[in-house]
Amino acid sequence: MDYWSALEVYKEMVLLYLEEGRRQINSHCAHLEPWQIIAATVLTTLGTIWVKGFLFQPESLTSRMKKQFFRLIRKIPFVGTKIQSQLNKALDDMSASLCTLKDGMSYTKRLPPKGLSHNQVLEKIKEYKTLNDVKWEKGCVSGAVYWGDETLTKLLVKVYGDFAWSNPLHPDIFPGVRKMEAEVVRMACTLFHGGPNSCGTVTSGGTESILMACKAYRDLAYERGIKHPEIIAPVSVHAAFDKAAHYFGMKLVHVPLDKKTMKVDVKAMKRAIGGNTAMLVCSMPQFPHGIMDPVEEVAKLAVRYNIPLHVDACLGGFLVVFMDKAGFPLAPFDFRVKGVTSISADTHKYGYAPKGSSVILYSDKKYRHYQYFVAPDWQGGIYASPSIAGSRPGGIIAACWATMVYMGESGYVDATRKIISTARKIKTEIRKIKGVFVFGDPEVSVVAIGSNDFDIFRLSNALSSKGWNLNTLQYPSSIHICCTVLHTQPGVAEQFIRDVKEQVGIIMKNPKEKTTGMGAIYGMAQAIPDRSMVTEVSQGFLDCLYNTEVKTNINHMNGNGKAH
Ligand SMILES: *Cc1c(COP(=O)(O)O)cnc(C)c1O
Repeated sequence: MDYWSALEVYKEMVLLYLEEGRRQINSHCAHLEPWQIIAATVLTTLGTIWVKGFLFQPESLTSRMKKQFFRLIRKIPFVGTKIQSQLNKALDDMSASLCTLKDGMSYTKRLPPKGLSHNQVLEKIKEYKTLNDVKWEKGCVSGAVYWGDETLTKLLVKVYGDFAWSNPLHPDIFPGVRKMEAEVVRMACTLFHGGPNSCGTVTSGGTESILMACKAYRDLAYERGIKHPEIIAPVSVHAAFDKAAHYFGMKLVHVPLDKKTMKVDVKAMKRAIGGNTAMLVCSMPQFPHGIMDPVEEVAKLAVRYNIPLHVDACLGGFLVVFMDKAGFPLAPFDFRVKGVTSISADTHKYGYAPKGSSVILYSDKKYRHYQYFVAPDWQGGIYASPSIAGSRPGGIIAACWATMVYMGESGYVDATRKIISTARKIKTEIRKIKGVFVFGDPEVSVVAIGSNDFDIFRLSNALSSKGWNLNTLQYPSSIHICCTVLHTQPGVAEQFIRDVKEQVGIIMKNPKEKTTGMGAIYGMAQAIPDRSMVTEVSQGFLDCLYNTEVKTNINHMNGNGKAH
């Protein structure tokens, strides 16, 4: 039998089956009235739509079921009240440790009937300064303040004063600030080797820079016909991407890391790419372990699938661009890599500018247009704004500009050389200590420490009793130090290494001992399966920050805050 006659037979068979099917259905429906058939059709259609809507939501079915399960548990009479009283206790403890005032202090709850004099205000702010116990100037804090140099501070106060009332929303009134913002963006583009079409905007910080990139790529995805845009990012990526997904109705798809290098698993990233992918993300470096993601490999995926790639250099942007000149070469990560379409870099971190500034940069102007917002029909006039804020602080932009030109290339290269040498020394020395290990091979300023022998949060307790204020990380448990210029002061790194050595030595005498204090709380928070409880406590934490009732200090659980 040849091919064509086989096909003929096949066709005959299909027709027979169809005919039989038709007969069966008709005979089943023979006794039904037309309205019944119509009603059944409508109901089935609506039912199918409902089931589809129930199953396929931005939040996965398992995650929703888990939440519902814990919601039900909290409804069980005894269990529910028990959990609630534990939560309340945690909140009370937190509020007591966060919101204590010194003896005799009180909160100002209404405007003074008559304004204070210049001197009275200055007198008053002294009281607020006495609340600081942590001596960050000495280098005992991880990250947070990246320099805080006194000469620079004096200059910034002057520059801020000169531009305090300026607002880039009105470029006609404040042309100087417009020029400064344009120059901050251009200088940053040049640092990251942007081409003639590269561009960007100044934002209020890393989070806003990231929000803007996600918003731009979401709108680009909408234009490409994607209804439910997804961000594909390493699990180590900053929480600002969770925030962006939350704000902009996107889905964040987390890609696991290679357990040994802590770099994103590129193969897993490739598998995560699909029809809804709006953007890929890499961090240079990521916050938790200070590791550089493999940008070149991810960029190849970006080019192959024609997806934008955002490089988050918020943390280390103003270090990594100077590392070559500082004698610590890195693999390419900036606009020289084909496929990198945007970069976020925080001027208020290693750019050493005061808080409230960052840049978002694009390889091409076409991307920046998706970031902009224009309301052409507003009664208040045609309204066009580049980023989230309407009015923006011109004084902060001026201070950022001043910091950049004051530092100059040599200033940044020197600071980078000092910071990276310090971080490398810490990495090398920590690796020699028995009982702890360093995550991956950090190349920049962050060194993350873990242990296979004991609960690492015990070390975090021990170090905070020595006056160190480090970052605690979860999944997996670890702590990290983010080195700044303040850690390059004589003796600081040596003291840190000595303290880690000594404390690990003490802990290793009894590695299985139970963790107490704040360390125990970090460990517990990580193990609670009902994440809504962690959210609730965290909301309580935020509420605490706005507390204006005087609390008596019953239980000071936080060991931080003593100078070493
Ligand atoms: C700090 C940081 C951000 C967010 O910056 P903010 O200025 O705190 O909003 C984003 N990504 C990384 C890697 C960071 O370290």
